[in-house]
Parts: sequence; structure tokens; C-alpha cells
Amino acid sequence: MDSKPLLRSLVPAEVDHLVADAGLPSYRADQLNQWLFERGALRWEEMSNLPQAVRTDLASRYDLTGLETAERQVAGDGTRKFLFRLRDGATVESVIIPMEDHATFCISTQVGCAMACRFCATARGGLVRNLDSAEILEQVLLLRADLEAEPPPDLGGRQFNIVFMGMGEPLDNWEEVARSLVTMTESKGLAMSSRRIQISTSGPAEGLQKLVTANPGVGLTLSLGGSTDEERKAVMPVPGRTSVAEAIDLTVRYAQRARRRATVAWVLIAGSTDDPVQAQRLAKLLRGKPLKVNLIPMNPLDDSDLEPPKEKDIQAFRRVLTDAGIDTFVRTSGGRDIAAACGQLRRRRQKS
Ligand code: SAH
Repeated sequence: MDSKPLLRSLVPAEVDHLVADAGLPSYRADQLNQWLFERGALRWEEMSNLPQAVRTDLASRYDLTGLETAERQVAGDGTRKFLFRLRDGATVESVIIPMEDHATFCISTQVGCAMACRFCATARGGLVRNLDSAEILEQVLLLRADLEAEPPPDLGGRQFNIVFMGMGEPLDNWEEVARSLVTMTESKGLAMSSRRIQISTSGPAEGLQKLVTANPGVGLTLSLGGSTDEERKAVMPVPGRTSVAEAIDLTVRYAQRARRRATVAWVLIAGSTDDPVQAQRLAKLLRGKPLKVNLIPMNPLDDSDLEPPKEKDIQAFRRVLTDAGIDTFVRTSGGRDIAAACGQLRRRRQKS
């Protein structure tokens, strides 16, 4: 890794301190924060209202960008998939999913992942390293710039939501994720409502505990994967070290603290997690709790015989849950024709 830290690793208040320490007036800090976050400057030269000496000094101590676009693909359904190369050559994926009245940005928090989920392409190479908060944020800035440069035809505005559903386990990199959340939600940062941000986790107990304590107000999705500890361990070996009961309990506690309903994500795999018996047990576990369910039919991988479920099995599974009074939605992943779903772009490139 480059020896210079990324300037955007600093949250806005730290940028204020940096500028004050340099003996500059506070409006310079406002200008710098604006360039870094609101405007998402990618070159020092863009910061035209900052004195050249200030820019030179900053550039001698910090890097401004840590990502470059290695690949950009647009799917038939409008999904845009990006492969970003980091300063050390590692790559991560991010996705823009156009929705009716906003776009959803799906971003990564780690290079690779240590969770070893059987159905997940990212799991295959193991964990390489954590992303720095600046590397997390810069994905958002690059996606935002792409959206502004080329607004999708039917999109209502430039509004976007952020989901931490790309590569990696966000709660295994909580410190950097938390810093990125501060900058996303601060008025001098990206000024986003925490309502527009969603963290998806495989639910390690320690990470969930930290989230409950920090209560950042963002939405929470728990990727469960099994209705008993054995089932969960079979498809999600590392997250399976946290019991189903504890993962749900902590998720409910978070939902109560954050005063917003949380989501349980359930990957449907044919002949495995699409079993209606699991649906019944799941319904029992979730009944009466501030949780809804997203069913995600598995996106097939190229090196595994795990298959997506049949449509009738998806509907049967859903019916069991809705009959129990649990709000349940089926989520299909976009961009299959460009391997946009779930970490497969990076993999294909590594293999070729
Ligand atoms: N580690 C976090 C975030 C990344 S995975 C988590 O587990 O939530 C984001 C979501 O994608 C999870 O719900 C996961 O279950 C789902 N997912 C991963 N691989 C998939 C695949 N091949 N098909 C469908 N969904 C998948």
C-alpha cells in the first residue's frame, strides 16, 4: 500500500482540525470539505479556490484518490457494474441499480471476505484486506459522478440510497465502516439521511454488538441462511458460529434502538434453503418481531452445483411466511447478463 494516507479517510470534523492546525481560517476548512465530499474532487487542481501552497502541502502528505475504474459494464436492465482497482492493485466491485425514483449504490467494505458462505462468489478467495473508510466513500463518489454524467432515462432524480451489500462483511471492518457512515451523514460530508443507508451483515455476534452500541441509525439486514444452527452453519460456516437465536436477538435489539424495522435476508438455494419446513421454522422465529424478510433466489456461480430454486418453490416459501403475518419480498438480483450479481466480475477477471 502507498505510504500516504488518503485525505478522505478524515471525517469532516477532522478536516476542520487539519486546516486549523495549519493556521488557516475556518472558511478554508469549509472549502476543503466541500471539495472532498459535496463535490467529490478527484484532482488537486480542481480545488481552484484553495491557494496553491495549501494544495501542494496537502498533496505532499495525503493521496486524494485510491480507486481507478478498471471496468464498467451496463446490463440490459440498466444495472451498472464497476470493478475498481485500489492503489495496491487489489480490486473491488460496486454496482448502481436504477430504481423507479432513485438509484441504489451497492458498495464493498473488504477485498474478499472471511465468511466462506457456500453460495457467495466473494468467499472463494478468502479475505485479502479491509477497505479504508476513504476507499469505501470513494466508491460512492465515483458512482455518484457516473450517475450524474449519465442519468438513467427513467430515473426520477439524482437521489441515491447506499447498501453495504457488496464484497466483504461490513461488521468485520466496523471501524472503517463507521467512519464512512459519519462522513456520509454529516452535513459537511455527503449530508445523507441515515434512512437511505442499509448495512447488510452475515451477523457475527461481536459485530452486531458494536452496531447496537453505536446505533448509527442506518437500516440493518441480517443474512440468516438457516432456520436452525446446523442449517445455518452448513451454508454459512463462519457466520454460523453465532447462533440463529443470538443473531436474531441482536438484530431485534438494533431495530428497537434505531426505531426502524430490520430485514432478514434469506438466500433460496434449490433443495436446501427452499425447504418449506425451514420456512415454517423461520416464521416461528420471526413472528411478532420488528422484522421483514427479503427472499433472494440464489444467483448461480460458475464453480458450484448450488442452483436457484424453482419459481413455485419460491412462492410456496413466501406463502408460509406471509400466512404467518410476516412481510416478505422476493428480490431478484439485477444484471445477470454482465455477471453483476454478487462478486462475479472480479472473479471472472482473476481467472482470465
Ligand atoms: N457480508 C454481508 C454483505 C455482503 S453479501 C452479508 O452477508 O450480508 C450481501 C447479500 O448477498 C447477502 O444477503 C448474501 O446472502 C447475498 N448473496 C451472496 N451471494 C449470493 C448469491 N450467489 N446469490 C444470491 N444472493 C447472494
